[in-house]
Amino acid sequence: MDCIFCDIVAGKVRAEVLHRDEQVVVIRDINPQAPVHLLTIPTEHLGTIQEIDAGNAPLVGHMTVVANEMARKEGLSEKGYRLVINCGNEGGQTVGHLHMHVLGGRQLLGQMG
Ligand code: AMP
Ligand code: ZN
Repeated sequence: MDCIFCDIVAGKVRAEVLHRDEQVVVIRDINPQAPVHLLTIPTEHLGTIQEIDAGNAPLVGHMTVVANEMARKEGLSEKGYRLVINCGNEGGQTVGHLHMHVLGGRQLLGQMG
C-alpha cells in the first residue's frame, strides 16, 4: 500500500522529525499554513479518525498529549494554538493516514473553513 506518512514513519521519505516514540511521529508540515505547523502521525496506519473505537481510543489521547508538548516547545502555550483532525473528503483530508495538525504562531480565524 502506498502511503506517504507510512513511508515517513519508516524513514523511507525524508521529513523534519521533531519527536518520535512507539505510538507517534511528529513532523513539520511541508506546506505550512501558519508559522508553526506540525503533524502528529500515528506510527500505525489508520486511515481516518473513524477507525478510532473504544479499543484504540488511548492513541488519540497520546496524540493530544504529544501535540500539547510540541506546542509548548514551539512557544505556543501562552498565546494558544489549534489542533485539527480532518476526516475524509469533505472534511478536507488529503492524506489517507490519520494525523493531527498543530497550528499556531499567528491569529487563526474563528471560522471552520
Ligand atoms: P490533511 O489535508 O488534513 O490530510 O493534511 C495533510 C497535510 O500533510 C497537509 O498539510 C500537507 O501539507 C502535509 N504533507 C503532505 N505531504 C507531506 C510531506 N511529505 N511532508 C510533510 N507534510 C506533508
Ligand atoms: Zn500510512
